Amino acid sequence: MTNEIHTPSSEFAREVASVPGGEAINKCIQCGICTASCMVARASEKYRPRKIIQKILIGKRDEVLRSDQPWFCMTCRMCEENCQEGVSPAEIFHAVRFIAAREGHIPNVFRNTLDTVLTDGWLLKDAYSDFIEDERDDLGLEVDLRFNDGFVKRVRERYFSPDMREAEV
Ligand code: SF4
Ligand code: SF4
Repeated sequence: MTNEIHTPSSEFAREVASVPGGEAINKCIQCGICTASCMVARASEKYRPRKIIQKILIGKRDEVLRSDQPWFCMTCRMCEENCQEGVSPAEIFHAVRFIAAREGHIPNVFRNTLDTVLTDGWLLKDAYSDFIEDERDDLGLEVDLRFNDGFVKRVRERYFSPDMREAEV
């Protein structure tokens, strides 16, 4: 591993590097080992971590921030384990998602999931089905959905209060 910076960086790359997690982006030498190590890339031809990093390095800001691809990363860190330059694509994509979310670019599937969590405290809309309710009842657990209200309130206060948003910008 080396700490050298190898790649001339675009303004967007410098912006990503300024966000926690994105610091190492300019060490990327575009070798492609991350893509070769990535299980998501194996499952989807559309997803290529090296290519996303390349687009950041050459400054395709709008294209990257509006793309759903940085959101495909599962943070398994196989790429990070194998990168010889000490770069973590997973961390870089966290930084990219942070910038994208701040500018309102969140893929609908994540936005819908967030709305569901902030409405009733469940990750999936149908998670609290009759089946689960019956199972919980049998186990002597709380079956009233309102017991999630406190959780939703805490999440809203912790992550979505006006103070919090200001602190993150
Ligand atoms: S393995 Fe590391 S150096 Fe190679 S392309 Fe991926 S991030 Fe860049
Ligand atoms: S952390 Fe993300 S980019 Fe890296 S191997 Fe896993 S899914 Fe692929």
